[in-house]
Amino acid sequence: MRILVVEDEKKVARFIRKGLEQEGYIVDVAEDGIRGEELAENHDYDCIIVDIMLPRKDGLELIKTLKEKHIPSPILILTARDTVEDRVKGLDLGADDYLVKPFAFEELLARVRALMRRGKYGPPELKFEDLSLDPSTRKAKRGDKEVELTLKEYALLEYLLRNPNRVLSRAMISEHVWHQSFDTETNVVDVYINHLRSKIDNDPSRRLIHTVRGVGYVLKKEEEKE
Ligand code: CA
Repeated sequence: MRILVVEDEKKVARFIRKGLEQEGYIVDVAEDGIRGEELAENHDYDCIIVDIMLPRKDGLELIKTLKEKHIPSPILILTARDTVEDRVKGLDLGADDYLVKPFAFEELLARVRALMRRGKYGPPELKFEDLSLDPSTRKAKRGDKEVELTLKEYALLEYLLRNPNRVLSRAMISEHVWHQSFDTETNVVDVYINHLRSKIDNDPSRRLIHTVRGVGYVLKKEEEKE
């Protein structure tokens, strides 16, 4: 599950990002409305959290633009100004819920979960061949076999399932799942790929996760050519 946070206050953005990442979400942060708009247009977010007071383009303007561009992600407004007017405006423009600052992280999390449950389009099950992943339960399924995943295994498999038949380099995977630039000294990506393989891809004749030598991995149907 991927969430966009549009918030210019670094401290608040960090607090939200850290908490959501601990819950296993992939989080992107935009520091102003224009950047938020760019990211929202180019990625498929399961939820967008928008602060009202933003530089370059304020939150209300941003919501208006997102709706005009038919971006279906549910939107949660954050507002420091506990004024009825702002909230009503935001909801009128198409936002789905709001939260007044300061808020407890648990409350943010509860709102985000609720929005994604009744989300505009989801959360859809991700599927490739007989492998599927249910974002609402975070369980993977291969054939009839249901498997529990750790947070990082989940994030890794989600990334693969969102990019079938596309070669993903170790650097891309590292950045997306761990938010770290790739360190050739470590083999954390390979270690987690092996965890995933042992859980959902352990039949060599029906392999879906393939190694691309010297590059990374690809989720695809064909047999690996050595
Ligand atoms: Ca702000």
